[in-house]
Amino acid sequence: MSNYKDKYEMVIGLEVHAQLKTNTKIFAREGCEFGKSPNTETSTVTLGMPGVLPVLNKECVNMAILTGLALNSTIPNRCKFDRKQYFYPDLPKGYQISQYDEPICQGGWIQISNKKIGITRAHLEEDAGKLVHAGAAGLYGSSYSLVDLNRAGTPLLEIVSEPDMRSSEEAREYVETLRNILRYIGVCDGNLEEGSMRADCNISIRPIGQKEFGTRAEIKNVNSFRSLVRAIEYEFIRQAEILEDGGKVIQETRLWDDTSGTTSSMRGKEDAHDYRYFPEPDLMPLEISREWIEEIKSKMPELPNEKMERYQKAGLSEYDASVIVNQMELALYFDKLLEKNVDAKTASNFLTGEIAAYLKEEKISIEDSKLTVDNFAQLLDLLKKGTISNNIAKSLVVEILKTGEDAKTLVDKKGLSVISDESSILPIVQKIIKDNPEQVAAYKGGKDKLFGFFVGQIMKETKGRANPQLLNKLLKDELDK
Ligand code: ADP
Ligand code: MG
Repeated sequence: MSNYKDKYEMVIGLEVHAQLKTNTKIFAREGCEFGKSPNTETSTVTLGMPGVLPVLNKECVNMAILTGLALNSTIPNRCKFDRKQYFYPDLPKGYQISQYDEPICQGGWIQISNKKIGITRAHLEEDAGKLVHAGAAGLYGSSYSLVDLNRAGTPLLEIVSEPDMRSSEEAREYVETLRNILRYIGVCDGNLEEGSMRADCNISIRPIGQKEFGTRAEIKNVNSFRSLVRAIEYEFIRQAEILEDGGKVIQETRLWDDTSGTTSSMRGKEDAHDYRYFPEPDLMPLEISREWIEEIKSKMPELPNEKMERYQKAGLSEYDASVIVNQMELALYFDKLLEKNVDAKTASNFLTGEIAAYLKEEKISIEDSKLTVDNFAQLLDLLKKGTISNNIAKSLVVEILKTGEDAKTLVDKKGLSVISDESSILPIVQKIIKDNPEQVAAYKGGKDKLFGFFVGQIMKETKGRANPQLLNKLLKDELDK
């Protein structure tokens, strides 16, 4: 069976909910840390008691503005909040405070490798609580559900993209790029598995060449990059099969199931009027002055694409720069190294080579390793000065990652520094020549390649410590005698 890709094209737009890293909730004063004991972070505002009033957390606004600036959005000087009516057991108020027609960020774009993806808008809203579906037999049947309202009122920024993506790979790259930006500007920790970043995926298909979009399905419950790609590929085939059978795709919300690798219908898609949006009467429209925006702009940290450029200017290949930038902890570490004036290219070779391999194997981050910036810089300095060879530096870096021992002390203790005095190397050169008369004869007979053989023998004898330039010179002189 063909996979339909020569006949249909997919169209994808994403709605990403990013949980803002504030200390307190968006309209209430209690904390919103993950993993607290159920219903301990619940004020009267969160519980939706009658007569209580929401108070907007300014830090949420600061973070939304910072995000908007990073996503090339316009921050209008006025936005407002609206009520979106739902009935959910984990939403005691019976409505969610969100932003409807006047969001805090309008328009924008982010760059992925082959194109720009448009951002439609980004708006602030509150999260709902959590239902815990208990397995044990309950009063009314085989199971029951419990409500935990700790998460209710957690600040979210919903970032809506234009339907600009045409493949699961583009969708993946978009979410990765967005996640990186949010992490670098410090507004969201981007943890898909823990749900601090959630992507709802809208996908439709159309015959190749057709201009109009097809009817979309919205897929929820996608909580890893792998499942995002799988869900899109599954949904593409499901929709293509419907069209091939002469059917029509219906607009609905579908749930991704990671175990079976399929999506299933959850509910028909509501239209905006089903929510009965109206302006939130308990909150004033929000006025954002140019000065406020300028103040936030002045605090904008370096963005991932700017870091990429700077690293490439410092001598890294595009690939190496991206490996470092895509792991924020590594990049922040690398920046501290660069402040110590190490050679960027050499440092990155170690970081993306031996160090990355070690961290991956131990499943730890660079900060959890014992390799401090100062110690690593010292090691690189010993290498730069020619005190130790490249191979020795490589084995030492792994040792230091484990033990945290001081580079210089280790080199002295183990006697690993390069041997650069003639009186130590010459006798070894002479010994190797004496021990290998056949090879010497062959070399003199024109087999130049054997030079490498002698170098290898001498290096073996000195445990890789002979200064290569000096060794080459002495060996040549002796062989030419
Ligand atoms: P809603 O709020 O009802 O989910 P929106 O207009 O906000 O609807 O759109 C939600 C997302 O769906 C956006 O990311 C948008 O790009 C995407 N989208 C809209 N139409 C289509 C379509 N035909 N195919 C794929 N994605 C679409
Ligand atoms: Mg939406």
